[in-house]
Amino acid sequence: MPARELETLCLGVDVGGTNLRCALVTESGTILERHCLPTDIRSGRELFLDRLVQHLQDLKQGAEARGKRVAAAGLGVPGLFSNDGILRSSVNLVSLEGVNLAHLVAQRVGVPTVALNDANASAVGEQRYGAGRPFASSLMVTLGTGVGAGLILDGRLWTGIDGVAAEFGHLTVEPEGRRCGCGNRGCLEQYASASAIAALAAEAGVAPLAGRLDAAAVAARAREGCPKAQAVYVRAGSYLGIALASVVNLLNLEAVVLGGGVAESFVLFGDTLLKEIRERAFPIPAQRVQVLRGMLGDDAGVLGAAATAGAVVAGSR
Ligand SMILES: [Zn+2]
Repeated sequence: MPARELETLCLGVDVGGTNLRCALVTESGTILERHCLPTDIRSGRELFLDRLVQHLQDLKQGAEARGKRVAAAGLGVPGLFSNDGILRSSVNLVSLEGVNLAHLVAQRVGVPTVALNDANASAVGEQRYGAGRPFASSLMVTLGTGVGAGLILDGRLWTGIDGVAAEFGHLTVEPEGRRCGCGNRGCLEQYASASAIAALAAEAGVAPLAGRLDAAAVAARAREGCPKAQAVYVRAGSYLGIALASVVNLLNLEAVVLGGGVAESFVLFGDTLLKEIRERAFPIPAQRVQVLRGMLGDDAGVLGAAATAGAVVAGSR
């Protein structure tokens, strides 16, 4: 059989709070076909699952039309998974809590399915196909609606004894700081996520842009020279650097990969972030670590989910 015929195709899914991305992916990380639709979880769990399954069936048929077979599916979902595959907690997808999503999708789509935290999926994606490729050990930080992270140690995703490791966004950076949805105070996520940047800018009186004040609008104001908008980004960079200095001291990582919408404004907070790492971490790990932008953008999640599915199937053969 020619080598091409042997290539495994997997389905990768990234369930975002807003967008649901599904893709048919080759083992080498090429997306052959993709569907992007609104997550629309408010219509209810059953309708959400019906739509997800329908799009995965369509992609599976697309593979068959190419004369290929889908070996497995991987689902990246924002929330905490325990090792039994149950989604334990998800701020954006509350109606999926307590559900074994992988099990349901496997039954209805007819392929082995794995589910993992969305930031972990992105970390695997960047490690396998993107900015993390040259490194055995890296932390991928996704600066989006929240602050997610995935930790790769010696080439493998580290999920901890209970499956919930690498909650970098919930490191405390301000002991008496802003309340966080996790129940703690002063979590990094309350200063460096897109929603925190928007909230802090509104509190500081940054003027909206075309009636909106999201993180991108705050960045645009900062680039125009608004000192209040600049201060919000500098503070985000400072807290990111403080948290990363501890991680760097703890793990002596080769790289930190920054993704998500906020990372696009790296020019507004990168210098501060690097200065905090240099000033706070020991010189050896501080000089070693490279802080890089992700290369895969919004595709990191689907690519990592598909790669995880492929690895699970390969491992069980
Ligand atoms: Zn928190």
